[in-house]
Amino acid sequence: MALREKLVAQGWRIGRPAVAQAFQSTDGTERYLVQCRPGDPTTVETVWMPEGDGGEAGDGSEADEKGWDRATVCVSSQVGCAVNCQFCLTARLGLQRNLTAGEIAGQVVAVLDRHGVRVGRDRVNLVFMGMGEPFLNYDNFMAAVRLLVHEIGLSPQRMTVSTSGIVPGIERFAQEPQDLRPKLAISLNAPNDVLRTEIMPINRKWPVAAVIDAVRRVPLRPRERITFEYVLLGGVTDRPEHAHEVASLVRRTGLPAKVNLIAWNPGPGIPYSKPEPPAVDAFQKTLMKAGIPAYIRQPRGRDIFAACGQLKRTFES
Ligand code: SF4
Repeated sequence: MALREKLVAQGWRIGRPAVAQAFQSTDGTERYLVQCRPGDPTTVETVWMPEGDGGEAGDGSEADEKGWDRATVCVSSQVGCAVNCQFCLTARLGLQRNLTAGEIAGQVVAVLDRHGVRVGRDRVNLVFMGMGEPFLNYDNFMAAVRLLVHEIGLSPQRMTVSTSGIVPGIERFAQEPQDLRPKLAISLNAPNDVLRTEIMPINRKWPVAAVIDAVRRVPLRPRERITFEYVLLGGVTDRPEHAHEVASLVRRTGLPAKVNLIAWNPGPGIPYSKPEPPAVDAFQKTLMKAGIPAYIRQPRGRDIFAACGQLKRTFES
């Protein structure tokens, strides 16, 4: 207590971010508005996604009384975002401010506390894919990773950071020590520069080839793969020819890679449509046939606007 008082007297804030509001999805996902500073009306969004392990059902080793045996926490790095991806609700906020390292790590701690997670025993993954572009808040993001690894005891190998392709950020990331570096995901979302620039204007500044060049400089751990995230927009990026183009693009990188396909999640006022399920399946099959591991990410918490691209403080707005 004496130390706390001393720190407060020096102007530090002591405490953990508070969950100001929680929304519960029918699929078990929870979306939180996290208040980082007492009295601050600004909140960021953090998402908890419990995943029961269906493969072990009935063999006696399934989830304990908590009802989940592994979970993923999706963490925000900024309030709003400046990147302006056309399919993303967070982009509509613009960038309001960067989160501090304490605020980024604090979201995780608040959620772990809420669910009674036993660090070191429960399987928890972190994805830095919430609001914001982590590589445009690089120092705070990496300081948060160091806090989570050194002070909380989480493994960086269970963390993934996703970037829209901020080349200077990827170059810095390549210099991070391997025992402190999360895995890397690139938010690709289009098969070529023309289409990518249309839906992600950041591509004008750092086109696909520049992003891939930077990714090649990240030294990978044994068996580590780069993830390419690909949001399928109905009629825009989900056509068979796009799948072939993505396959050859990923093959040409020469990187050990996989592709995560995400059927676009609707958001109010965003002028795209969901892809048809057969188009999603066909896209995956084309990639697999080309020898590229491809997974369809199941949307989580769509009903509470917790799914990819849907985070926008709907409580306040
Ligand atoms: S998808 Fe990510 S990088 Fe793009 S605008 Fe949304 S939050 Fe920002």
